[in-house]
Amino acid sequence: MGKQTGFMEYDRKTRPGRDPQERVRDWNDYTAPLSEEEVKKQGARCMDCGVPTCHSGVEINGVTSGCPVYHLIPEWNNLVYEGKWKEALEREHQMNNFPEFTGIACPAPCEGACVLGINEPPVAIRTVERSIIEKGFEEGWVVPNPPKILTGKRVAVVGSGPAGLAAAAQLNKAGHSVTVFERDKRVGGLLTYGIPEMKLSYDIVMRRVSILEQEGIEFITNTEVGKDISVEDLQSDFDATILCGGATLHREMEVEGSELKGVHPAMDFLQANVESLLDSNLEDGNYISAADKDVIVIGGGDTGTDCLATSIRHNCKSLTQFDIYEKKNLLRDEDTNPWPQYPKIHRVEYGHAEAEAYQGEDPRAYAVQTTKFAGDENGHVKEVHTIKVKTRYKNGKKIREDIPGTEQVWPADLVLVAIGFKGPDQDLIKQLNVETTTRSTVKAAYEKFTTNVDGVFAAGDMRRGQSLIVWAINEGRAAARECDLYLMGETKLP
Ligand SMILES: Cc1cc2nc3c(=O)[nH]c(=O)nc-3n(C[C@H](O)[C@H](O)[C@H](O)COP(=O)(O)OP(=O)(O)OC[C@H]3O[C@@H](n4cnc5c(N)ncnc54)[C@H](O)[C@@H]3O)c2cc1C
Ligand code: SF4
Repeated sequence: MGKQTGFMEYDRKTRPGRDPQERVRDWNDYTAPLSEEEVKKQGARCMDCGVPTCHSGVEINGVTSGCPVYHLIPEWNNLVYEGKWKEALEREHQMNNFPEFTGIACPAPCEGACVLGINEPPVAIRTVERSIIEKGFEEGWVVPNPPKILTGKRVAVVGSGPAGLAAAAQLNKAGHSVTVFERDKRVGGLLTYGIPEMKLSYDIVMRRVSILEQEGIEFITNTEVGKDISVEDLQSDFDATILCGGATLHREMEVEGSELKGVHPAMDFLQANVESLLDSNLEDGNYISAADKDVIVIGGGDTGTDCLATSIRHNCKSLTQFDIYEKKNLLRDEDTNPWPQYPKIHRVEYGHAEAEAYQGEDPRAYAVQTTKFAGDENGHVKEVHTIKVKTRYKNGKKIREDIPGTEQVWPADLVLVAIGFKGPDQDLIKQLNVETTTRSTVKAAYEKFTTNVDGVFAAGDMRRGQSLIVWAINEGRAAARECDLYLMGETKLP
């Protein structure tokens, strides 16, 4: 509950951002910690509301409200307020294998559903969450805890993103021997290759992966299942398989000039940057450089923001981000987006604050639709042509109308396309004869996670479509429970 009058005594404070002018010169965490005393005050703001909507993750109108891993938020807020950090950590780990990942990068739908948030700034739940787990690592409380008894069953997990890691951690706890196959050079999926270093560093991913390894999980990298290891071998060597391959097939721009040099999918840019940064501090040159370029990012979401922040650290010349939607309001619309829904409001994310500090203005242009890319004589992009659009909805269907006379031409040397993802890679899915949905994701009902193929389960973005880390963890854990039940006829996993 925190302190009965805490919400009246203390203002909301979240982990502060470092000075944007300074932080854009390095790849270190762009935030700084709050003092322990301050975090206790933030815990004290939790007000014993009676029905804590923060910890019950549901989807309302297709958007997440509350915490998808059902974190015991009021309990750990109270324990932090009382200085019982170790007990708070136990509560965190009860529901979430990796509170450090969500404590850093979760968009915190819990805060949108916080009761205090109805008429006051909500409790700084994510900041408290991160502070608990960081204290746990500092104090040496997070240690490997290998299973005491092994079942002799072998499970293959395909993909080492948050869904695969959560599934592996839970199955290992149940005593199964788990092997995680990862086609990339490094583990972590989008934790490593999507979210950039200054937001979620590879060291933080590896800190946890090393614990999982010491608990007995085997990680095999540079190995694509369906190519480097056949599905026949997979099925004969393992008693069950959990597919956690993500959904990273990017959506393409279907306009003239998309094939020009200098037009890249955002993930090609972000992934090559991480690999080169971690391999050689960008000295090997194996990345798409934004240095001295007019950069245009197409897409107003998180991926686009990560492209902004990365381009700045390359020393780009200028930055523009196109958002197809109108600029949102600063406060939620009580009629169409009431509490406890996730607030659809205008936000200044870390990349926007950095772009403003870097070039003196927010990089976003709203309600902008790209109509074509124009190239120079060498086939390299030199311009992006756009028109303003109006988005309206008719019978639940989205309709976009051009606004005549709003055509514009923007100089560009580098265009990063961040307009979302089509779904998972189909190669392995086809080889396994796994059924898919109309969205090309693996067909496996939520709660059950079983596919049409005996012993094959699916979780995370590969089943759900592009989503959030916290949903991937929820699904990895729950698929592990169903898999344990399948293997043993009973399960004690949550
Ligand atoms: C740029 C970007 C930024 C994001 N930022 C955030 C954020 O700030 N907060 C948030 O909550 N969410 C964010 N997301 C979404 C989040 O990262 C994903 O929802 C989450 O990582 C999905 O987890 P997953 O384990 O299902 O898949 P992934 O993380 O995609 O991992 C899948 C893994 O499977 C591997 N794989 C696929 N096929 C095979 C195969 N055949 N054999 C072996 N390995 C295979 C892939 O290489 C990959 O490593 C972001 C996404 C992107 C693209
Ligand atoms: S995982 Fe996300 S939704 Fe859950 S408590 Fe943490 S920040 Fe909130």
